Amino acid sequence: MEKVALLKCDKYDVDLLEKKLREGFELLGGDEFLRSLIPQNSKVLLKPNMLSVEKEGSPVVTHYAVFEAIIKIIKDYTNNISYGDSPGFGDGEKAAERCGLKAVAEKYNVKFADFNDSVHVKLDNSILCKSWNVAKAPYEADVVITLPKLKTHAMAYFTGAVKNQFGCIPGTQKAAWHTRMPDANNFCKMLLDLNTLVNTNFAILDGIIGMEGNGPRNGTPKKMDMLIMGKSLTAVDSTAVRLIGYDDPLDTPVLKEAYESNWGAVLPKDITIVGESFEEMKVKDFKLCRKAGNFYFKSPVVNNFLKAMIAPSPTLIFEKCIGCGRCYEVCPEKPKVIKFKNKDGKRYPTWDMSQCIRCFCCQELCPVGAIKTKNTALSKLINK
Ligand code: SF4
Ligand code: SF4
Repeated sequence: MEKVALLKCDKYDVDLLEKKLREGFELLGGDEFLRSLIPQNSKVLLKPNMLSVEKEGSPVVTHYAVFEAIIKIIKDYTNNISYGDSPGFGDGEKAAERCGLKAVAEKYNVKFADFNDSVHVKLDNSILCKSWNVAKAPYEADVVITLPKLKTHAMAYFTGAVKNQFGCIPGTQKAAWHTRMPDANNFCKMLLDLNTLVNTNFAILDGIIGMEGNGPRNGTPKKMDMLIMGKSLTAVDSTAVRLIGYDDPLDTPVLKEAYESNWGAVLPKDITIVGESFEEMKVKDFKLCRKAGNFYFKSPVVNNFLKAMIAPSPTLIFEKCIGCGRCYEVCPEKPKVIKFKNKDGKRYPTWDMSQCIRCFCCQELCPVGAIKTKNTALSKLINK
């Protein structure tokens, strides 16, 4: 049975957050729990979500106050703390500076780890992927604590504790993984393997203000006043997805793959929630981005036919587009899918959907939210 602490916290105040996180650790086993999680003087790596270069307080990235509160607690056990991430677009250190993490880190002498510094390693006990090029800092840390943000995600439906470690893949190599794993099911198996590889030890999910709708970057901020923490990444994610409206955690690809691969606790019967009442913390009217719709078959003919019928696709909000070309730059299938056209003196992208693998990197990283996911008639029916 995996224990998950569910806490109510209604603002990004460092003192309040520290108090809440200490309460959470107390519920999970107190000082003894923390001592076994963070052995004295161990090398701890904090992995916030720094999806892209975002301003301070942005709901896209982990809030700097959550980051500061956990550092204050870890400092009781070790001073060997670093942090880092490899954003989907842009420079990691610049992203840390812009969103306020760098200033906090400097205050506590927490080092920035450049995730472009990578190692080539093998993973024998994998579900799917044996060979990796991964950021050295999380791979070599004694303890990896992930600090995800609770958000919707067009491909994975939800991004939380498991998905957050995709940032451990250095820079543009992320696109290559999308090409190697074009369907969500295998991509999610890869994410689980990646967490085995870097041995993510603990998760604190920031759901005080998360994101609904067109996430993970261009959705709507959603105040939910919650923190979810635990050693089991899948138990944390399973609790989160049920709180935002998935009655069955197996409706989300990461948790479905985790369950089928026997990778961590997924079902409610295998998870004990301590702290706040689950029923009282349920989020009303959360706008999920997808409920179902991924069907993959071995035959490419059947697969392509069903993809066209069922899979949502990226689509342009013409008025918002500024013609910057980032969607093209981040597309792992470049130059096959996105081409540019001109209309009324404006440059805008078009998609060849027969070539698109539906990774939604373009939607995720458009700087102005000009791409949304469009459901087919059949996927709308499934999502009812
Ligand atoms: S859709 Fe977004 S990323 Fe693509 S060109 Fe327009 S503004 Fe840039
Ligand atoms: S067009 Fe967008 S969704 Fe399609 S493969 Fe490229 S980045 Fe992925």
